Amino acid sequence: MRFDILTIFPKLIEPYFSDSLFARARAKRLLRIHIHNLRAFAKNRRNKVDDAPFGGGPGMVLQIEPIYRAVRFASSKFQIPDSKKRIILFSTRGKKLNAKTAKRLSKYDQLILICGRYEGVDERVAEHVADEEISIGDYVLSGGELPALVLAETVSRFIPGFLGKSESLEEIKGSYPVYTRPAAFMPKRGARPWNVPRILREGNHAAIKEWRQRYGDGGGLRA
Ligand code: SAH
Repeated sequence: MRFDILTIFPKLIEPYFSDSLFARARAKRLLRIHIHNLRAFAKNRRNKVDDAPFGGGPGMVLQIEPIYRAVRFASSKFQIPDSKKRIILFSTRGKKLNAKTAKRLSKYDQLILICGRYEGVDERVAEHVADEEISIGDYVLSGGELPALVLAETVSRFIPGFLGKSESLEEIKGSYPVYTRPAAFMPKRGARPWNVPRILREGNHAAIKEWRQRYGDGGGLRA
């Protein structure tokens, strides 16, 4: 799987992909992550990629030309068939991201992620360039960089090998409460301890399973 992320702020996202699970997955060649600075695709001396909106109104709009060129560059450099790549535009009007969508996207060989900024992106990118528009929630962020990190992470967790040893737990982890040592935490001397539920400490695996299942489907966390 390869991610190509198009942004005007590459430095905001590079460090996140250079540590922890992403660093390991990249070293294992499980994932390739390429961050493209949209300004490098601007065709003017000042590397300008935005302009005022037609019809007036506040803010600036990311222009289609540098985005179009960057997408062309990212999608043509590698011999990946069109059916195995997906071009995604982050937008507050997009379809809400969930685990099901992430699992579906994890089947592609290449995801090209377009991060908007300012007042948004020229609508022709949604109309002619992107395959789909995705929102990560009903709130407004300043750009598509955090959505790109969120999407890349949740999609990657569905790629076999990304999670390493803990993988077998992945489908249920997060859907029930977890505790670790100490079994009794004393917030203050003489106060009543905050205890771990006894059932989890007793080692009756059937009972533990039943206790965990009481937390149901994890509120839709499972895909
Ligand atoms: N005026 C726009 C906000 C633009 S925010 C509106 O109200 O819709 C600038 C960019 O940040 C957007 O183009 C989009 O790429 C990204 N963005 C902001 N919030 C987002 C969200 N919840 N999900 C996905 N992308 C988001």
